[in-house]
Amino acid sequence: MGVMGGGQLGRMFVHAAQRLGYNTCVLDPDPQSPAGLVSHDHIHTGYNDMQGLAQLVAMCDAVTTEFENVPAAALAQLALSRPIAPGAACVSIAQNRIEEKAHFTACSGVSGVNVAPYAVIETADQLQTVPANLLPGILKAVRMGYDGKGQVRVKTSAELAKAWADLHSMPCVLEKLMPLKAEFSVIVARGFDGSVVSFAPQRNVHVDGILAVTHAYPSNMSVDHSIRAQTATESIAHHIDYVGVLCVEYFIVDDGSPDGGLIVNEMAPRPHNSGHYTTDACDVSQFDLQVRAMAGLPLPQPRQHSPAIMLNLLGDVWFDTDGQPRTPDWQAVLSLPGTHLHLYGKLDARPGRKMGHLNITGADVDSIKATARQASHILGLPGVDA
Ligand code: ADP
Ligand code: MG
Repeated sequence: MGVMGGGQLGRMFVHAAQRLGYNTCVLDPDPQSPAGLVSHDHIHTGYNDMQGLAQLVAMCDAVTTEFENVPAAALAQLALSRPIAPGAACVSIAQNRIEEKAHFTACSGVSGVNVAPYAVIETADQLQTVPANLLPGILKAVRMGYDGKGQVRVKTSAELAKAWADLHSMPCVLEKLMPLKAEFSVIVARGFDGSVVSFAPQRNVHVDGILAVTHAYPSNMSVDHSIRAQTATESIAHHIDYVGVLCVEYFIVDDGSPDGGLIVNEMAPRPHNSGHYTTDACDVSQFDLQVRAMAGLPLPQPRQHSPAIMLNLLGDVWFDTDGQPRTPDWQAVLSLPGTHLHLYGKLDARPGRKMGHLNITGADVDSIKATARQASHILGLPGVDA
């Protein structure tokens, strides 16, 4: 099994593949990459290096990607001789917010779920003709955005013009700022044969644009929204003949109705940070499904056996309130019931860097919430009560 990219998602993919007896090969330029450190083989080279890609093809029967900004051309090259999941065309849609929104809109007839109102801004002229009802809004770079990077909130057309200049007049979309009640994501896996299975929607709390907490238990959202989001995600996968694990992010917005309205935000063509709870709370994880999809193995409907909360551990946790480096108090955290610590093997903790996560499982929602509060208190984590 080959994987383009050596980050933590690749590392957890490698672990899942190895459990099924597969050998793995990671292609990533960083010799210390989290996935490279645990893989059987590691090709240290850039993603566009033809020789490296040829080596990967020679070693692997199937290849996947663990980050969405992998050059689509490299995936297309690999696809000439090996099954690639997800395919280059699907990844390139997810890399481009304009194409992504067009795809969601094309699916909306079937999915019944729309995107937030937006306008494309690629030229100075388009800046002048932006509809006033999109302000206040969020200006987002069309490419290479993640964890809230490449985004600016703007209130007036003057702020919009400045923000666009600050983003080097790159192609952008301006999205209307929506009154969010909650954020959710849905993770599905689709096979080469078109079969699809999904995890129930999980609720996500972001702090400073980065995922902080995921709540995974059924009382999270209305049954109606849950079914609609799951159905919409499946149609988003089917429509482009997607193969592999796909995560789609949704907003619940305040539209005056009791449950709020459902809006589709963006998709990630890979396992997702909001699905990390699945390794400890489900009988089949998102990484297991990625391996199975690639290998053409059956995709079982995953069963969640415990309610779960995931706390992201950013590099900030490795510093005390005075900014001095520290080792987090794992003794205290791991003495709490149902705590599962995952660290990614990154030696250099930096604020904002994803270093690991803590999954919390238990018999009922109240007890995992209590444990999550205690763990957050010990580690100084934000977002647990949001
Ligand atoms: P990224 O690729 O960085 O995850 P997103 O489009 O998901 O980019 O935006 C990051 C976060 O910003 C979202 O999770 C949400 O909290 C907030 N956000 C994004 N778009 C909107 C919007 N149109 N209205 C309100 N909040 C938004
Ligand atoms: Mg997002």
